[in-house]
Amino acid sequence: MSGPGGNGTDREFGDGDEAAAREAVRAAGVELVETGLVDGTWGNISVRLGGDRMVITPSGRDYRSLGAADMVVVELAGGSVTGAGKPSTEAPMHRSLYLARPALGAVVHTHSAAASTVAAARREVPAVLDDFVQVVGPSLRVADYALPGSGRMTRVVVRAMAGRMACLLANHGAVAAGRSLPEALLCARMLEKGCRSFIEAEFLGGAVPLHPVEAWAMHQVFLHKYSRTARGGRK
Ligand code: 13P
Ligand code: ZN
Repeated sequence: MSGPGGNGTDREFGDGDEAAAREAVRAAGVELVETGLVDGTWGNISVRLGGDRMVITPSGRDYRSLGAADMVVVELAGGSVTGAGKPSTEAPMHRSLYLARPALGAVVHTHSAAASTVAAARREVPAVLDDFVQVVGPSLRVADYALPGSGRMTRVVVRAMAGRMACLLANHGAVAAGRSLPEALLCARMLEKGCRSFIEAEFLGGAVPLHPVEAWAMHQVFLHKYSRTARGGRK
């Protein structure tokens, strides 16, 4: 059984849950296309599989044409592929996040529209909205420009996401994470909404951020209290 704690650990997918993890990543790909967060083949999704592997989308494929067997299993430490398939170009970035942040269970990279606009302007999004702050964190930083799939990308993303669940990639797109795949997908939607509100608020005279301490506290409440209901626990 999958779900946080369902396999006897705090993980959504344990070592024996490969089939469920493959299917969850496949379904998430379709969801991202259908909700407009991914257009074409730009973007990628992964979940942590047990202690030392991840399941990630294959490179350059239309998610609507894929089955669970097309997802790729990659070792976190060395990056070797178990079985068949060509993993996403951004597999090193996904691996570096799982290795640096043991609590992360899923990573979603998109080129969603409003996030891409803010990434093009290289503007850090302040604490503009309650829900955005709860899920993403006290601000949405912009990682320095790095070529897709590069070693530099792995470093700038981990740095920009410190204390947060997401960041923008300069002139590229966005990365959202979560302790579970539903949480990472929620984060991808929240960061897109926050970016859109930020752009529009700037046109309405300027976004007015929340106080940084309140923003930090709201993110902590989401992580440790509020979100537990959605993850199958108690509030
Ligand atoms: P992949 O198709 O290899 O996952 O790459 C898409 C992308 O967004 C690269 O940044
Ligand atoms: Zn990309």
